[in-house]
Amino acid sequence: MIDKAAALQTVEELKKRGFGAYFCESAEEAKELALSLIPSGDTVAWGGSVTAEQIGLIQAVKSRDDITRIDRDLAKTPEEKRELMRRGLLADTFIAGVNGISRDGWLVNIDGTGNRVAAITFGPENVILVAGVNKIENDVASAMERARNVAAPLNVKRLSIPDPCLKSGKCMDCRAQTTICCHFAEHRFCKPAGRIKVILIGEKLGF
Ligand code: SF4
Repeated sequence: MIDKAAALQTVEELKKRGFGAYFCESAEEAKELALSLIPSGDTVAWGGSVTAEQIGLIQAVKSRDDITRIDRDLAKTPEEKRELMRRGLLADTFIAGVNGISRDGWLVNIDGTGNRVAAITFGPENVILVAGVNKIENDVASAMERARNVAAPLNVKRLSIPDPCLKSGKCMDCRAQTTICCHFAEHRFCKPAGRIKVILIGEKLGF
């Protein structure tokens, strides 16, 4: 895992690309920072993120009484869940994680439904991404390699989905209907500047 100096350098590279970028030593610090970046009165949605769960951010968002939540986990049917995901694209603030970050400031994500990469790309005016420094790789190709062969198979295992990588532990480029890898996104630049805020955390978090 890369050291703090390298993480701080990545923060500077992210800033050069228009991203809001921060480094926090601890999960608690990152949670408090993320909460401070959500304005009172906002409508808030989030994508599936083990990191956001691990640092207690999603729970804290659910506890705030000055915001409106779009919580897909409250859906009673698949159709309702999809509708809540669609509405999340119109939220003021969207929270998510990142599957891979290159040292020179690109973000990489793989998504099954597509709502997460869609919301990061366009829609919500305030996007907050949280990531442990374990997500940082030397270059974009390595970050995508990480997303495909580390993050995705671990998520398949977490969700107990019978995709080929459940056994192999690496991506088999499957065509399974249950695949969680439909959309690959690389975010090279943030425009308008500061819309996407990346909080790097000096801990091993997520996948
Ligand atoms: S085998 Fe399928 S589900 Fe698993 S990582 Fe590859 S594309 Fe994704």
